[in-house]
Amino acid sequence: MSAPTIPETQKAIVFETCNGPLLYKDIAVPKPQANEILVNIKYSGVCHSDLHTWKNDWPAVPLKLPLVCGHEGAGVVAAVGANVSPDQWKVGDLAGIKLINKACLSCENCQQGEEPACGKLILSGFQTDGTFQQYGTVDAFQATKLPADIDLSSVGPILCAGITVYKGLKTSGAKPGQWVVISGAAGGLGSLAVQYARALGLRVIAIDGGDERGDFVKNLGAEEFIDFRKCQDIAKEIHRITDGGAHAALNVSTSEAAIQQSVDFVRNRGTVVLIGLPADSKVCLPILETVCRQISVKGSYVGNNWDTNEAIDFFARGLVKCPIKIVGLSELESVFKLMEEGKTIGRYVLDTSK
Ligand SMILES: [Zn+2]
Ligand SMILES: [Zn+2]
Repeated sequence: MSAPTIPETQKAIVFETCNGPLLYKDIAVPKPQANEILVNIKYSGVCHSDLHTWKNDWPAVPLKLPLVCGHEGAGVVAAVGANVSPDQWKVGDLAGIKLINKACLSCENCQQGEEPACGKLILSGFQTDGTFQQYGTVDAFQATKLPADIDLSSVGPILCAGITVYKGLKTSGAKPGQWVVISGAAGGLGSLAVQYARALGLRVIAIDGGDERGDFVKNLGAEEFIDFRKCQDIAKEIHRITDGGAHAALNVSTSEAAIQQSVDFVRNRGTVVLIGLPADSKVCLPILETVCRQISVKGSYVGNNWDTNEAIDFFARGLVKCPIKIVGLSELESVFKLMEEGKTIGRYVLDTSK
């Protein structure tokens, strides 16, 4: 394939200070370092983390400023660095840019394929420019291979939300035929979690509020639905359905109370996985019970390359669907506004050409 012409400048959404104006403007197209590839980003999903980043809700996380946010980019390889072999990447390949843009690949975690635990991570849209731009760079090792026939507009959310819940389910250790409870099941992460759980052969109890959300999660494959607005004792109901408690609980909601409750409804030797991030929250564990019932509580966020490839594969085979709404890159500010007001349905995806 002949090399495409790479422009000198491109459109991007940039902010110079947190909470400052979201500027839709021309910036330089970055040059890939020797171990990087340059991706012509066609679409980028918008994640709640992007909103949190812009608002500086996580001041402990260091940010590059000015910054281009975004970590759900899907596009075409436009250039490869000098050290990138053709076995890794060729111009014209389809590639994804996910949250992990670069890991050290030499620490004890990286050596064990546990890059999300690397202490020297560079995250897309945090410490390096992300995917709300037309061209972005990513370490060749961390870039995600996308199948040639994938729909670039809808795969972006899998690169963050999809991986997050898929990795969470793997972290839970739940096996085919076992029960997993997903709280916040009708939300963006939850609806993907229900589908991945089903695809993995797990039995799903979905918790959310309202008949409409109940019908929605049952359509996605939840075997049982518990309406937290109506159920008097959720733990008791789960123990009844599962004959002794769920094997695992996946907490994607941002309700501290819901997360707290999950410790009570897993069975002996069950696992509680924490994913949702309610601000300034804690889980309180009864020590005697946790010890004697051998309950595990684990944190989980994104996965490594292999988790990512697996998550993409489920999506590519049509086992997992993610409803999206496509708007232009220039409309990011209005998407953030809808997110703040809790009015988004499905995932918003930015078309970088508009
Ligand atoms: Zn995200
Ligand atoms: Zn490392």
